Order: sequence, then C-alpha cells, then structure tokens
Amino acid sequence: MKSKSYSFDSLIEITKRPPICFVEGRGSWLTDADGKKYLDFIQGWAVNCLGHSPRVLAEALAKQSKKLINCSPAFYNEGMVRLAELIKKHSCLQRTFFANSGAEANEGAIKLARKWGQKFRNGAYEIITMDHAFHGRTLATMAASGKPEWAQLYEPKVSGFPKVPLNDLDAVRQAIHERTVGVMLEPIQGEAGVLMATDAFLKGLRDLTREKGILLILDEIQTGMGRTGKLFAYEHSGADPDIMTLGKGLGGGVPLAALVAREAVCCFEPGDQGGTFNGNSLMMAVGIAVFKEMTKPGFLAKVAEKGKYLQTKLEALSAKFGLGEVRGRGLLTALELNEEIGPRIVEEGLKKGLLINSPRKNTLRFMPALNVSRTEINQMTAILGKILETRGEWEEKK
Ligand code: PLP
Repeated sequence: MKSKSYSFDSLIEITKRPPICFVEGRGSWLTDADGKKYLDFIQGWAVNCLGHSPRVLAEALAKQSKKLINCSPAFYNEGMVRLAELIKKHSCLQRTFFANSGAEANEGAIKLARKWGQKFRNGAYEIITMDHAFHGRTLATMAASGKPEWAQLYEPKVSGFPKVPLNDLDAVRQAIHERTVGVMLEPIQGEAGVLMATDAFLKGLRDLTREKGILLILDEIQTGMGRTGKLFAYEHSGADPDIMTLGKGLGGGVPLAALVAREAVCCFEPGDQGGTFNGNSLMMAVGIAVFKEMTKPGFLAKVAEKGKYLQTKLEALSAKFGLGEVRGRGLLTALELNEEIGPRIVEEGLKKGLLINSPRKNTLRFMPALNVSRTEINQMTAILGKILETRGEWEEKK
C-alpha cells in the first residue's frame, strides 16, 4: 500500500502533516507505506526512549495482555503497586498517581497543589509559571504554559498562573504573595527550544519555596526518565521537588504518565482525582519494563556519553556552517541556526529520510532514542551536513 493511496480527509486536522503514512518502526528507524526508511531523531517527541518497538516492551505487552489488562481504577493491581514502588525507590518522592498523558499528570499536579493550598495555606491557589513554558493542552495546562501563540486561544483562560521569566529568581520572589501555593517549571524548556533552567536558578527556587512555605513543582515530562543522562533532571541541580510529573519516556511509546509527590503533600480525598484508564495493568507492565532497562548498570552513563558525542558533532557542524549555539543535556539537544531556516531543513530532512524537529524557526531539536548508536548519530549529522551544504539549491527552489 502506497502513502499516496491513503486518504487523510476523515481525520480532524490539528496540525500540518506531510502526506506520509508510517507503517513500521524498529529502533531508530521508521518505514513508510512506500517502503522508504527514515532515521528518527524525534522519536514520538522524546517518547520512545528505547526506540521503536523494542523487544522488551513488545514482550511485556504481550505477556501482560494475556494475564490482566484492566481491572478498574477502583481496585489496586499488582503492576501499579510495583511501578509506584520503583519510582519511590529511585526518586526523592514517595507517592504516585498514574495518568494517561503528560497534560493529565500536570492537571493532577495543579489540582493537588490547589487542594494543599486549601488545606494548609489559607486557600492559596496561584502557581507561578515561566514565560515560554509548555505544560500540555488541557485548559488549565494551557493557561499554565507560557506560549505566546496561545495568549488569545480558548478564552476565558483558567486563572491563577502568573508568569515570570525563566532564570529570574528576583522576579519569582516578587511574584510570591499570600495567594501563591507554588512554582512550577520544566528543568529544560523543550518545546520552547531547549532553554535550560540553570542549576543555580533551580537551587535558588528550592531555597526560596522552602523559605516561603510553598511547593516546588517540576514538570519532568520531557526531561525525566533518563533523557538528560540522569534518571530525573532535578538530580543535576539537587533541587528536590515537592511534586514532579512524568510522561513521555515513562511509557516508552504507550500512553503512560505519572504525578509523583512528597508524602506530606498528598492530600487528595476520595473522589478528588481519578480516571477510567489510570494505572491499568497493561500500561503498568510497560512502565516496569522501561524502568528495569533504564536502571540497568551503565544505561544512564551511556546516555550522557552519547549526548556529549551528539553535541560535539553538532558543534563541528555549527563551526563549519557558521551556525549558533549547541545546548542541552544528555539526549535533549538543540542547535541554534541564527536564521529562520529550521522548517526548510526539516522539509529537506524528510526528502532525505531524516526526521528532526524545529520547535522554533531558528532552532533544531534532537531527541533520539536513548539507546541510539554512535553510527546513527554519525548518519544523522552526515545527512544534516549534506542539507546545509546544498543550502543554495533548496533556498533557490523556495
Ligand atoms: N509537559 C512537557 C514539558 C511536555 O514536553 C509535554 C509534551 O510535549 C507535556 C507536558 C504534555 O504531555 P502530553 O502531550 O503527553 O499531554
């Protein structure tokens, strides 16, 4: 079956997609309906941490599907207990509520913080968030986000999310008052173009929130689960959060996310939070398999090492073609282009069988599988180098 023979007009359009239809994935490679192969440095938006269709996840799904898929969130199941215990063992937090998407986990974090504010901080409910932040696409998480393009969308907004610039501790201090219940941010703003919260800022935020008796909420949906070379990005700065959200890599490609919190903050009462599919056995089996792979000795060290290798290769390209900064941590990396040519490079990449992302017109983002090989990194930079070398040709065709 050819990509061209698919009709896409029965889908609600939510974004511009190329007329390509993928049918298979293996490791760092995707295959479309025409049999064309693509080297994938997007990986479902930093989701497929072990690459496409890894054997361990396929086996976990197959085995669990024959045993128990879903017993209702009204009951405990073995998988949810085991996965929550793994998160507790490997993080600074004690309790987990499982969700189906990052936005749902963040929505839960906002609810938990508001409930905590109601019970322990005289009804405080405001959560200070960052300019250019991305926390999801529900109404509350869109309001918590700082995407300028969303400023007028779906009015009226959920209120209670004053914004401050990233890495400006004084601005946070000034924004805190009696209605403030917490500060929420991503350790690295992925969707904004891999903008890093500095370790000093995160440490400062931890001290400040402690001093003021409010919550530090870290959205680790993109940075968590090994992406930055540590299991959780907060480990780089040592700024332990009170609440953390996970998603993307936690499920390695299946819909799984988590709201994780310090024991003392967990104040939901029966009926406050829930959901039909939350914590179902099938997704739990995948989460456990991901966790086991990621906590094997040497796995995270390799992520850090390959991240450095990727950065070195991109720096060489940047020097050769007069481009800008390379930034990021582990395998969440960006290359600044200095000009708004990102979308054209993405287009040329598609033609040449490379999937990369341009979160801003002047930036490319790289988020390969965490087990990507050096050979694949070399292949990617070779294709990118070719695209940059032939810039005159594709710019002419514009
Ligand atoms: N938070 C961050 C930092 C993200 O990067 C994303 C997704 O890109 C989300 C939240 C939303 O997650 P989801 O798309 O699973 O709802």
